[in-house]
This record gives sequence, structure tokens and C-alpha cells, in this order.
Amino acid sequence: MPHILNGKKVAQKLKENLKIEIENIKLKFNRVPGLAVVQVGNVAASSVYVKAKTKAAKEVGINVFDHHLEETIKQSELINLINELNDNKDVDGILVQLPLPKTINEDLVLNSIKPEKDADGFHPLNVGKLSISTTNNENLLIPCTPYGCLLLLRELNINLVGKNAVVIGRSNIVGKPMAQLLLKESCTVTIVHSKTLDIENICKKADILIAAIGKPEFIKKDWVKEGAIIIDVGINRVEINKEKSKLVGDVLFSDVEDKVSAITPVPGGVGPMTIGCLLRNTTIACKKNNKN
Ligand code: NAP
Repeated sequence: MPHILNGKKVAQKLKENLKIEIENIKLKFNRVPGLAVVQVGNVAASSVYVKAKTKAAKEVGINVFDHHLEETIKQSELINLINELNDNKDVDGILVQLPLPKTINEDLVLNSIKPEKDADGFHPLNVGKLSISTTNNENLLIPCTPYGCLLLLRELNINLVGKNAVVIGRSNIVGKPMAQLLLKESCTVTIVHSKTLDIENICKKADILIAAIGKPEFIKKDWVKEGAIIIDVGINRVEINKEKSKLVGDVLFSDVEDKVSAITPVPGGVGPMTIGCLLRNTTIACKKNNKN
């Protein structure tokens, strides 16, 4: 049986530590971190994520400023709100839930968030800092999902140096920052994507395989090296029958489980870590803001 990397448990530990940190911030600065959560429209999955993030933030003692906006809001109005939040001293982190409606330029909105308040770690300045930094990640605002994946890998207490890591997917949210983080750990990193030739053979050489594709149960046993560590980022809803559906990852768990040494389940693997790392970023931003 492989080691099941229980994201719920690890995220709970992260949240307990943040709770203590936030109590210390309160004692020292007489305030707690503030997170502004901006949702535009009513995409069902976004509402689920926003609810989970808000609940988790409140649990650790973060103040949440909820901004749920109409789908018809103009881009300029949304940017005006971001500017207000940028200037609001009670707000340390700003999260804009994606996707935004097609009428709004996502990059423009994300780039209007002050880098110091970039709770998701998507701002070009923070992306650049991650890319050029050679020190530990302690004070960096890092995209939450890949950082959560790294924390899960650390739970295994293995030496990552020199490991052959393959990241499937090159999105700005997951694939690219994941590769940067693994590179910082001195892994030998390969990124593959939909245009990669001979992808199966590249994946088969991976000691660590990170799947961030968005295709249900796409990765089967044949793609996986004996004893590999698998981090399954995918969250895909598939129908069981007309009334029921379930969440599955990008990896066919039942097919690979006998072959791998460790694997994340879906749900309960990377998902909770993403939320935990959002709270981490907000707390880091607050500590930095209080110093300035
Ligand atoms: P994305 O922006 O759609 O990127 C998907 C990537 O997969 C792209 O780079 C794409 O290649 C690549 N890809 C697609 N088909 C492929 C194929 N047949 N072979 C190889 N590569 C292929 O998705 P994302 O935002 O990175 O998210 C990926 C998955 O993670 C989704 O299931 C999403 O729901 C999930 N997710 C989970 C969390 C969490 O908290 N657990 C957070 C974020 C995302 P091209 O670039 O060539 O198109």
C-alpha cells in the first residue's frame, strides 16, 4: 500500500500553527490579518471555493471582508474596488476568485492588486521573486496550490535533491510555479503539456509526478514509474449516474496505487492545502504590513 498523503490532516496542522501566529500578531499589533474576498457572478464552483476559504480564514482568526459582485459589473468598477482595498489598512490580502466573466481582463485585474496584498501570489512581481529567489520560501507570497503540493512532499521527509520531477501542465496558477518550487528544492524538473511529444516516456522516468491537467483519471499505471510519488492536483467532477456525481483527480488512483510509494487522494489531498496556503500568504502579508 502506498503512503496516502492526507492533505486534510496536513492543512489542519498548518492552520493550527497559523492560529498561534495570528494570536501573537494580535498581542503585538492589536489587530488581526484581514482578507478581502472578491467574487464576481455566481459560478457554482467559485461559490463553493469562496465559502470554504472564508470559513477556513475565520477559523484561524483572519477577518474576512466579503465582496460579492454582480456578473454585470464593469471592469473599471472592479478595479476601483481593488484600488480601495489596496488603500484599506485593515486589508492585508486580496483574493479575486477566478474565473472572472469573459468581459473582464483577468490579468489586468490581478495586476492591479498591490503586490504586498497579493494573497494568491499571482502578481508578476511575486512570480518574479519566486523565480529569482535562492533563499527559503518563508517570506514569499507563493501561488497556493503548488506551495501546498510542496508542503505535502515535505511531509514524506525525503531528500528532494536530484530527484527527477515531472510536472504535467504549464498554467500560471499551478504548473509553472510548481516547477519553480521544485527547482528551488534542487530537483531536476521537466514540464510537459498538451504539445509534448512522447509524454508517456517522460512521465515514466519521474520520481515525483505532479499532475495538473484537468482531465479526469487521465494518468494510468503505464505512465508511472515503480515507487514514484504522485501529487494529483486535478479536481474533476464526473457523473456517476443522472442524479449523482463525484470528484476525481487527473490520475486513476485505483490503477496506480499498487505501483507508487506515495499519492494524494482526491478529494482530501491538494485541495485543503490550497486553502491553508492562502491563509499562510495572508498572515505573511499582515506581518510585513505591520512592520512598514
Ligand atoms: P489549466 O490552466 O487548464 O492547465 C492545464 C494544463 O494541462 C495545460 O498546461 C495543458 O497544456 C495541460 N494539458 C491539457 N491536456 C493535456 C494532455 N492531454 N497532455 C498533457 N498536458 C495536457 O488548468 P490548471 O488551472 O492548471 O488546473 C489543472 C487542474 O488542477 C484542474 O483539474 C483544476 O481543477 C485543478 N486545480 C486544483 C486546485 C486544488 O486546489 N486542488 C487548484 C487549482 C487547480 P497546454 O498548456 O498545452 O494547453
